[in-house]
Amino acid sequence: MNAAASTTGLDAASLGLMLEALDDFTENALPWERRLELDHEDVCPEQTVRAMCGEDLGVQLAFFPEEYGGMGGGAFDSYRICERLARIDIGLATSVFATFLGCDPILFGGTPEQKKLWLSRICADGALFAYGATEPEAGSDLGALLTTATPVDGGGAYRLHGRKQWISNGTIADVYTVLALTPGGPSWFVVEKGAPGFSSAPPEDKHGIRLSNTAALFLDDVVVPAENLVGLKEGRGLVQAQLVFGYTRVMVAAFGLGGGWSALDRAIEYSTNRVQGGAALCEKQGYTHKLIVPHAVRLEAARAFLEETAAALDSGAGGLNTEGAIAKYLATEAGDAAADAAIQAHGGYGYTRPYMVEKIKRDVRITRIYEGTSEIMEMTIARDRWQNHLKTGGAYYRDAAAAMREFGPQQGAHTAALALACLAAVLDACRVGRLTRSQHVLLRLGELIAYAEGSAAMARRAAAAGAGTLGAKADRRFTPDVLSAISRIFAREAAMKVAEEGARLVAGAQEQGSDLTARLPLDEVRGAQAGLLADMDLVADALYERTKG
Ligand SMILES: Cc1cc2nc3c(=O)[nH]c(=O)nc-3n(C[C@H](O)[C@H](O)[C@H](O)COP(=O)(O)OP(=O)(O)OC[C@H]3O[C@@H](n4cnc5c(N)ncnc54)[C@H](O)[C@@H]3O)c2cc1C
Repeated sequence: MNAAASTTGLDAASLGLMLEALDDFTENALPWERRLELDHEDVCPEQTVRAMCGEDLGVQLAFFPEEYGGMGGGAFDSYRICERLARIDIGLATSVFATFLGCDPILFGGTPEQKKLWLSRICADGALFAYGATEPEAGSDLGALLTTATPVDGGGAYRLHGRKQWISNGTIADVYTVLALTPGGPSWFVVEKGAPGFSSAPPEDKHGIRLSNTAALFLDDVVVPAENLVGLKEGRGLVQAQLVFGYTRVMVAAFGLGGGWSALDRAIEYSTNRVQGGAALCEKQGYTHKLIVPHAVRLEAARAFLEETAAALDSGAGGLNTEGAIAKYLATEAGDAAADAAIQAHGGYGYTRPYMVEKIKRDVRITRIYEGTSEIMEMTIARDRWQNHLKTGGAYYRDAAAAMREFGPQQGAHTAALALACLAAVLDACRVGRLTRSQHVLLRLGELIAYAEGSAAMARRAAAAGAGTLGAKADRRFTPDVLSAISRIFAREAAMKVAEEGARLVAGAQEQGSDLTARLPLDEVRGAQAGLLADMDLVADALYERTKG
């Protein structure tokens, strides 16, 4: 897979124009002071959301095929737009995203007539959608849903009864897709605002994304015509929801990147001007190498995985649930940690509202929860890759390590290969000791897998940048040299994490010791840490645009 070489969707120039238009629009419609006020007042700027999705800006159009009036953007375009939206405000981004999510069941599971009808409502009329899956008792486990859809009128209609929880755009949407249990199993229905018996609760008072409207929905015997059953077949709801996880998780991963970078960039600017102990904070290695550089590195490694996944989706690879989960997990965990570090980097000022980073921290926190929590991501990743490990007799990551060794050492690929080789050994020790019967072990493996695969993606991205083969739409903030340093730093972290935490995990799960530590190349992993500080200096210089004289 060539990193970030998406050739479908918008051309690079159109994407660039859309990103610029987004910045210009929000700068005028919602300057940052106004965003702070809305956050304080806990108000969703519905008119701005409608203007963004309507004639004024038309950001929604980028997400939909041309045949329905959209611009035909692909997954890569969605990632770039979602990241930019999230840099502006994750609440606003969530409101825009909810329309995309809301019509997903239709886009991927609807009949041609349903697609034409409902998708045109978005593209031509700027209708806002909401996605009603979660219920008070059915969150991560959607199969536990209790909302029912009972056939009535001799099969000509369905009566929906139940409640939905935490629905984005809950009180402002024009159209809702609602997951309900039919006699044939969970199925999606389209419900229009104002349908008799359909109502929503007042918006939730949330920790963050307070510019986004989130509310419970009540379906009190709402009757919808049978043609509103998405796909006109019962029982396909969970499959239809699964079909788009790769895509939608890439979008939420982009929210993590946007939030994390937005906070970190503020910390970078602040530390350039803030003088303590006789010099600007940005001159202090103890500050930059703890609060800035590691976060920039983890965000960029997450971006590498995200760009590969988006490009693969655009090239027609189906599903990619696990890849979407890895991208979401890496990017949202990195984004949340970066925002937290940005508060610390601002000292007491970071703890106050006007500096924005405390708002960003509250906002980005949601990305680890919605569209599948981080723990569900760990489970998804671990279960899938565990099967690959078993099916290939342990060759899955050994082969990946061998492929990494084909790259030169410059981009940290040899260290990423070490991470993958250690992962293969850890997984094998888990197989021998039957350790994945413990859920704790399984989920921690999910984290180690994400780090090891992230390091390989980062090395490929740095290599592509060096070879001049990064796709035209890929992010270009850093030069190939800096990307190589970032890759080396992340690969060292991944190798150390997989080896040390993997050894601890395996040892901790057994009464008697295992021979894993003897089989792990621990000396090599430790040896590969050489040069870490110099690479961190290099990345710090790049972030602060310093040239060595
Ligand atoms: C602001 C906001 C907006 C949202 N927007 C929407 C929307 O538009 N549409 C929609 O349908 N939903 C939406 N959601 C719901 C969101 O997707 C769910 O909150 C999320 O999936 C988690 O479900 P839950 O809240 O029921 O938590 P639970 O599933 O009860 O999870 C609680 C905790 O237990 C962990 N956990 C759960 N299951 C397991 C397991 N098997 N093993 C180990 N740990 C586990 C979780 O990781 C979590 O830490 C939104 C939520 C919020 C807060």
